[in-house]
Parts: sequence; structure tokens; C-alpha cells
Amino acid sequence: MSSPANRGVVFRGAGKVAVESIPFPELALGNRQCQHGVILKILTTNICGSDQHMVRGRTTAPEGLVLGHEITGEVIECGRDVEFIKVGDIVSVPFNVACGRCRNCRRGDTHICLHVNESRPGGAYGYVDMGGWVGGQAEYVMVPYADFQLLVFPDKAQALEKILDLTMLSDIFPTGFHGCVTAGVQPGSTVYIAGAGPVGLAAAVSAQLLGAACVIVGDMNDKRLEQARSFGCEGLDLKQDASMPELIESVLGVPEVDCAVDAVGFEANCHGHNHTHEQPATVLNAAMEITQAGGRVGIPGLYVTEDPGAASDEAKHGNLSMKFGLGWAKAMSFHTGQTPAMRYQRQLMQAILHDRVQIGKAVNVQTISLDDAPQGYADFDGGAAKKFVIDPHGTLGSASPRAVS
Ligand code: NAD
Ligand code: ZN
Ligand code: ZN
Repeated sequence: MSSPANRGVVFRGAGKVAVESIPFPELALGNRQCQHGVILKILTTNICGSDQHMVRGRTTAPEGLVLGHEITGEVIECGRDVEFIKVGDIVSVPFNVACGRCRNCRRGDTHICLHVNESRPGGAYGYVDMGGWVGGQAEYVMVPYADFQLLVFPDKAQALEKILDLTMLSDIFPTGFHGCVTAGVQPGSTVYIAGAGPVGLAAAVSAQLLGAACVIVGDMNDKRLEQARSFGCEGLDLKQDASMPELIESVLGVPEVDCAVDAVGFEANCHGHNHTHEQPATVLNAAMEITQAGGRVGIPGLYVTEDPGAASDEAKHGNLSMKFGLGWAKAMSFHTGQTPAMRYQRQLMQAILHDRVQIGKAVNVQTISLDDAPQGYADFDGGAAKKFVIDPHGTLGSASPRAVS
């Protein structure tokens, strides 16, 4: 019997992605047997700012990499050792690959699992240096350690109805939430979120969910700022030539916030009239300037060890010009790293299912076909105020009109 077909989004060098035939997944990765895994028929798979770093040639991602780490799907095959997940379950896949057995997984730090990546702690699907797990911007994908990793949606019909919200559980909703939790957001907090991309908007929704008094979202992209304002945030236009404390004061009456979240990362642009120029440490420095002494900065924005496209030799190796002394003098804390998505998935799923949040609407979901993925990448790179969700089998139709723009 010939194996079924599969197609996926493949990185083909800086600025290029293509939809190609790729192997149908097996319950194995190279020589490694994955009888603890399942095969998913993918229902939704989202394009992420993290993918863009690779596609823009700002990482050492190899050509031929199948992209995609934000995966929601239906289980169509279970490995021999899978005990609790069943064929037919609709599941969200946390983007971190995690074994559930190592000391880091045991304490809930699934983003730095010790068993899924030979070169460093932490694995992910379809990502450079993250263990070689095949990405899920495809029709089918293999997910290992299924009993440990997968979040099963309790009701299939309800899951399909809310799929454009639930699809954000694989990464950006937990990531925005983690950014806020690690920044210490509480009821009544004033919060600055750098970046009005999907992660920044997810952080803004999360800050509201956590009870923040005022959520300020800064960016240079007018449409994205408008999107932030659409659900009650203050949109701060960073094209203005004023200092960050002055800009914050213009909103709050005081030049500082309680908590800050960096939802931009190393491809950050300068503030003010130089806003088309990159300055990788600018968000970190701004956060140190405007956050209260003793405050915390959540840093979901991604920073790399190697950046072949960086403007300076230092930045090419991840060395940034940080005002670390300022942060030290203000006794600040910084929380970096990938998000342990699993830690937040269940609660955030409940918040969606009980209509406490409309994350799909907040990030302005647009569904596209697999064939349209290259255009989705281009539009997202151009700063569209949208979160692109690929519907690889054309199963959604108008699944959730409320969330589609
Ligand atoms: P994105 O590229 O769509 O959004 C980034 C936004 O930042 C853009 O709108 C851009 O205009 C804006 N920006 C640039 N310079 C700025 C500055 N100085 N101040 C404020 N805004 C500025 O990306 P995204 O999908 O929203 O993701 C954001 C970051 O989060 C990326 O670095 C991504 O890799 C990272 N990420 C991390 C995790 C994690 O687990 N930690 C998970 C998902 C995404
Ligand atoms: Zn992502
Ligand atoms: Zn582990």
C-alpha cells in the first residue's frame, strides 16, 4: 500500500517559503522510535512572528525545514504506548516538545525539556536548533509524548465552533499570558506591552484577564495600534519623537508603569524618527527606563545566539548593547525564554469556552488555505494587523464568523 500524501510549508532560503509534498509522518524521528506519539490530521496551524525570524534569514535555519509550531488537530493514529489519547480526539499541541520525564518537565518547565533536543534544552516543531521535529504547517504531523503533551478539547462540536480562539492555545495566548504573569501583572496594575503583533495583542488580552487597570501597547504600525485600541488598550505610537518616560506620562500622568512585557524581540526598531532602523536592545532598555524600581519585565520576545542578518558584528553573535546597570540599580527582574505553553493551556481553554475572552477577535484572525501560506507570510511580514491561521484541509469554512475579520 502506498503511504498517504502530505504537503507542508517549507523554508527555501531567505524570503522564500513554498508549499511542497513532504513525507507522511511516521511514529519515529530518525532512529528514535515514538510509540508514545500520535499522528494528527491538522485542523488549524498558525503563522507566527517566530517563523518570520527564520524566513527573513535572521537565524541559521537550514533550507528544507518544514515550518510550523502552532498546531491544532484531530488524532487519526495512536502509537502502541499511547494510553489515554484516542483516535478522533481534537487536541491542541503545546509548541514545546517535552518528554514529561526529565527533571525540568517534572517541575513544569516543559520549554527546557532535556530529552528532545541533542544540542540544547528545549524542543519545538519546525524550528531551527529545536531538535529537528517536523513542523506542522502541513496536512499531517507526528506529535510525540502524546499522553503528556496533548490538551484534549472536551466537546468536539464546541471545539469546532470556537476553533479560531482555541487555535491560539498552542502558542500565542499562553505566551502573552506568561509574559504578563512573569511581569507580575495583577488586578490594578499599569502595564506597558512593547509590540502590537499577535503576541503583544495576546499579552494585552492576558493583562486585561489578569485585572490590569491600564494596558498600554506600543508599536510603530498604525493598523496594529488600531487593533490594540479595538479592545480597550491605549495604543502608543512610537513614531513620535519623545522619550519613553514622556510617552508613558502622556497616557498615565506619571512616567512609569508597574509592569512591562517585551513582545518584540531582537528585530526591534528604534523609537522616534529613526523608527525604520533596527536597534536590538531598544525594547529591553525602554522597559528598564519606564518600569517601577523593583519591577519585573516579562520577555517573550525572542533573542538569538546567532543572527547572520544583524547590522553589527556584536549583534551577529547575540551581544546586545543593554543598559544593564540601569536595571541593576533599579533592582529589576527579567524573565526570558520560550513559554512553557502547557502550564497555562487548560485555564486559558476554560476562559475561551466560558466566553471570558475573545482572543481570536483581539488578534484579528484571518483563515487561509495551505496554498495561500506564502502570501500569508508575505502579508504578515508587511505588517498586516492579522493573525494568519492556515486551514490545510479546508474543513473550517466559516467556522467562527465572530472571530473572522
Ligand atoms: P510580530 O513580528 O508580528 O510583531 C512584532 C511587533 O513589534 C511588530 O508589530 C513591530 O512593528 C513591533 N516593533 C518593532 N520594534 C518595536 C519597538 N521598539 N517597540 C515596540 N514595538 C516594536 O511578531 P509576533 O508574532 O507578535 O511575536 C513577537 C515576538 O514574540 C517575536 O520575537 C516572536 O519570536 C516571539 N515569540 C516568543 C515566544 C516564546 O515562547 N517566548 C512564542 C511566540 C512568539
Ligand atoms: Zn509561535
Ligand atoms: Zn523533559
